[in-house]
Amino acid sequence: MKVMIARLNHETNTFSPVPTPLAAFGNDGPAFGAAAYEENKGKRTAMSAFIDLAEANGASVVTPVSATAYPSGRVDAKAYRTLCDEIVAGARGCGAILLDLHGAMAVESTDDGEGDLLERLRQQTPDVPIAVALDLHGNVTPKMMANADVIVSFKTYPHVDMYETGEHAGRILFDWLNGGPRPVMAWRRLPLMTHTLRSATAQGAMRDAVQAARRAEDAGMLAVSVLAGFALADIPDPCLSVVVVGSGEPAQAEQAAAGMAEAIWAARDGFFYDSEPLADSLARAVELACGAGKPVLLLDHGDNCMSGGTCDTMEVLMAAVDAGLTGIVAGLYCDPEAVEALTAAGEGAQVDLLVGNKRPIPAIGRPAAPVRLQGVVGAVTDGQYVITGPTYTGQTACMGRSAVLDIGAAQLVITERTHEPWDLGVFESMGLDPRRARFVLVKSRMYCRPVFEPISQALVECASAGVTSSDFSLFPYERRRRPLYPLDPMAPSDYDPSA
Ligand SMILES: [Zn+2]
Repeated sequence: MKVMIARLNHETNTFSPVPTPLAAFGNDGPAFGAAAYEENKGKRTAMSAFIDLAEANGASVVTPVSATAYPSGRVDAKAYRTLCDEIVAGARGCGAILLDLHGAMAVESTDDGEGDLLERLRQQTPDVPIAVALDLHGNVTPKMMANADVIVSFKTYPHVDMYETGEHAGRILFDWLNGGPRPVMAWRRLPLMTHTLRSATAQGAMRDAVQAARRAEDAGMLAVSVLAGFALADIPDPCLSVVVVGSGEPAQAEQAAAGMAEAIWAARDGFFYDSEPLADSLARAVELACGAGKPVLLLDHGDNCMSGGTCDTMEVLMAAVDAGLTGIVAGLYCDPEAVEALTAAGEGAQVDLLVGNKRPIPAIGRPAAPVRLQGVVGAVTDGQYVITGPTYTGQTACMGRSAVLDIGAAQLVITERTHEPWDLGVFESMGLDPRRARFVLVKSRMYCRPVFEPISQALVECASAGVTSSDFSLFPYERRRRPLYPLDPMAPSDYDPSA
């Protein structure tokens, strides 16, 4: 048997001004054919698990596309068409289809990137089974449910179970092909928008929901997924979903989905993050820093590139400096123009230049308003460093050309590219030791935590007006369904989990 396996991952923040052309996928564009296979084989992706399963089942594998991009604005319509055409062509003549998708891909031409792709595949070969692995932040749609046989999502955030999720979805599909039970799916989409900062699976309502999902699997369901959804998308339903894959009687899967939905709806306030005013957060940080040996970690979570942020907003840094904080090591600020100027001036030079706030963000009504800074140029590098932390260990990361600007109260790392602070290397490679700072300010929400929390004595989340803000009222939602909690007031009886 021939099996088609492909990967197309994009989390779309429709409010982000960062474009998503074809070149945004992969390091130098998407991988096709044999290169798509090589990119995944032996790695920890869902696609990698699909390949292993298919080969273990003696199937020959067709891998038309592996394409994954950092979160950003809507995917370019032509790029989407190109990638989907390759996948649909690759599926011709195949006996099974396994897809590694995100679930929250919006395109210039459609709100439902995954649903449209699945519909095309199903129309081409109506009888071929389709299994899909999704990110925990996928926004599930009726089209996705109608055109797939198996959907399983990650159970961890920060995400570490991509391979396991692919293996889970793939196993259900191959068991079925090998004469096992035919999967049946049940689905509940709650009228509930969640905050990314409340979708971490180690705590609170999300932990409880995932634990309930595991219990339902132990009780006999083939797979139970809780998808927090991705709320930074102006689409009809940027909402939390429960997807149950059962075997045999559809009524059992329906019952499990209804039970999960009921419990989650009762706990809905646990998915809501109440932003603290920035001035209060900074005052708290100052108190925490008194007499401490270790730095206080400040998270500028309103401008994170892992959800579509521009990484050039200066609000938290300038508020910290204005509030009198000193000894700050801060980054990463994406400003290629400033990097060019600092590089030209050279290490040790006294400079006076405009930094950050250069990218207008029309969706939240923010014009460009660069900040004038004076200081001394520190290290200037090519921005490459080797990751020693637990995420992507050993890989060479590239921030683009990078430079340090010392403005007295703070030392800023300014980069050519947006880059998540995966590792202390983002500072250490620039000659800065974050352990010796009083405050470490990073543009991150989750992924910095495994390396920066251990060197810090406290963590303070700092709200700012960027495209990854947790303040939903900043965003002009025009296409969303109403009512949706928490943007609209809803009584417990306003949602019926049994329907
Ligand atoms: Zn995610």
